[in-house]
Amino acid sequence: MVGILAVQGAFIEHAHCLERLDCEYKFLRNRADITADIDRLILTGGESTTQRKLLKELDMLYPLKNLISDGIPVMGTCAGLILLAQKISGEEEPVFASLPVEVCRNAYGRQLGSFSASGDINGIRDFPMRFIRAPFVKKTLSDEVEILNVTDEKITAVRYKNQLGFAFHPELTDDLRLHEMYLSL
Ligand code: GLN
Repeated sequence: MVGILAVQGAFIEHAHCLERLDCEYKFLRNRADITADIDRLILTGGESTTQRKLLKELDMLYPLKNLISDGIPVMGTCAGLILLAQKISGEEEPVFASLPVEVCRNAYGRQLGSFSASGDINGIRDFPMRFIRAPFVKKTLSDEVEILNVTDEKITAVRYKNQLGFAFHPELTDDLRLHEMYLSL
């Protein structure tokens, strides 16, 4: 069962994608929701500072970090990518620190607001990418991180073992191919 972190942000949109793929999910709103049947995790877009604070207050940070290090497939979109990153530029503490990349928040080129692009991601052609105050991956911190997309000279999609990180929002498009790729991990 896919657990969708649902403390803040775009969790309903991910749920709609999974419904269209006939995939069972559960919203994770507090620690008690993190039950033994959760074997996949989606970390949503939103505001990573708020999500960080709520994860701590709700005592969800360590149980989720343990699930990620146990190797369950994880997809982090936008703020979710920031939560996964081992290093967040200009911030002292990472959150899950499970994905060996350094991310810059709110710093995609000169475009701070939202914009769209289209790109190839790991063999998926012309995927519609929506960026909203997006982060980008400034550096990869391990040779094992695969770069899946670069747009305007910025890394926007990576894979490392069980973890997928996207700077954009696949859940805000009608295109389900990245969710399918995640579910095939
Ligand atoms: N700017 C947000 C942050 O830093 C991320 C934006 C998003 O998830 N759309 O957390």
